[in-house]
This record gives sequence, C-alpha cells and structure tokens, in this order.
Amino acid sequence: MSSNNVLTCEIIAQETPYVTRNCSKCKRITEFNCSEKFRVNANQKMVDIWLIYNCIHCEGTWNYPILSRVHVNKINSILHEKFMNNDQETSWYYAFQINQLRKLCKDVNTDIRYELRKEYLGSMTNETTIRLCCKYDFGLRIDKLIAEIFDISRTKVNKLAQDGMLLLHPKINMKNKITDDIQITVKGDWYSIDTLT
Ligand SMILES: [Zn+2]
Repeated sequence: MSSNNVLTCEIIAQETPYVTRNCSKCKRITEFNCSEKFRVNANQKMVDIWLIYNCIHCEGTWNYPILSRVHVNKINSILHEKFMNNDQETSWYYAFQINQLRKLCKDVNTDIRYELRKEYLGSMTNETTIRLCCKYDFGLRIDKLIAEIFDISRTKVNKLAQDGMLLLHPKINMKNKITDDIQITVKGDWYSIDTLT
C-alpha cells in the first residue's frame, strides 16, 4: 500500500546547551550558560569576536572565541551587523557548535529542553512516513525520539525496528543522533493515529 500519511515532526530546542568549565571567580568547575550576547573588539582594522557565557553561580563569565584577529574587510558585513546587534539566531548557531565547544570546555551538556511540533496529514492506512526536522543538532537519539512520539519504551522501539515495522531513510542505526531530514517509514497497525496528532 502506498503511503499518503505523513507526520512531520519538528524538534524545537527551548534552550542552548550548557558548558562545563572552570570558573575563575567560583574557583571550581561549574556550568555556564550562553548569554546570547557577543563581545566585539576592534583594534585598528583587526576584529575579535566572542560569545559570552555566564557562570550559573556567580558573575563570572567565559568568552567563547568566534573570530580572532580577523581583518574587518574579511568579515561578511551582514554577519558583522548580527554580531554587533546580538542577533539571537546567530548566537544560537554558535552555541550549538557542540564539537567546537567540547574542544574548549570540560564538557557540554546537551540534555536540553525541547518541544515537539507534530503535524499529521493522512487517514487510516497501515503505513505512515515520519519526517524529522531539527534546526539545531544537540545529539538527540532517534530511538529516544520515536519512543516519545509513540509514547512507548525504547526497548519496544528497537523490537519494532528489528521486526521491520520501523525503517529509517537513510539506512542508519536507531541509536544514531538525529540530523535534519531523516525519514522513518512506520508499518503495521500497532499504533493509534491519535498518538500522532
Ligand atoms: Zn562562578
């Protein structure tokens, strides 16, 4: 049976990841959150840009280096404006550069709050395609999300995958992290449409 049923599932991050590192004021390893504010320094024509993180316990800050000693002419003028205006989307873009942050910090806590926005188009048949989209990658696992969508255990998710009831496109493992544009084909009648809407 061809699939006319599509569930679009948008994963919307509600906060940016925390970083763990030493606070020179607290004099201990602690967590910092992103202030969503940039610090821009211009020395002659050379520009430095940092994203400011705040210690969650004190007034201590950590500056995450974004650009170091870059000639002002080499910075895209629209991007430069965004740094100057503390554009929130731009700050989130850098705050989700988790691999880069991991190199600079002791740890990055990606266990953040998120919302699922589900939109179901279709009728009762026995095949549904789930389209996942997420603007920010924070290492959420596919099996964890599927369990949440259908309100079932992760063990059940893996059992269904083994039984060919859940197929991933591209063909990756259920334990992989979610990236934008993963599709899941759901077969069988083991779930109720009500859980999808
Ligand atoms: Zn502190």
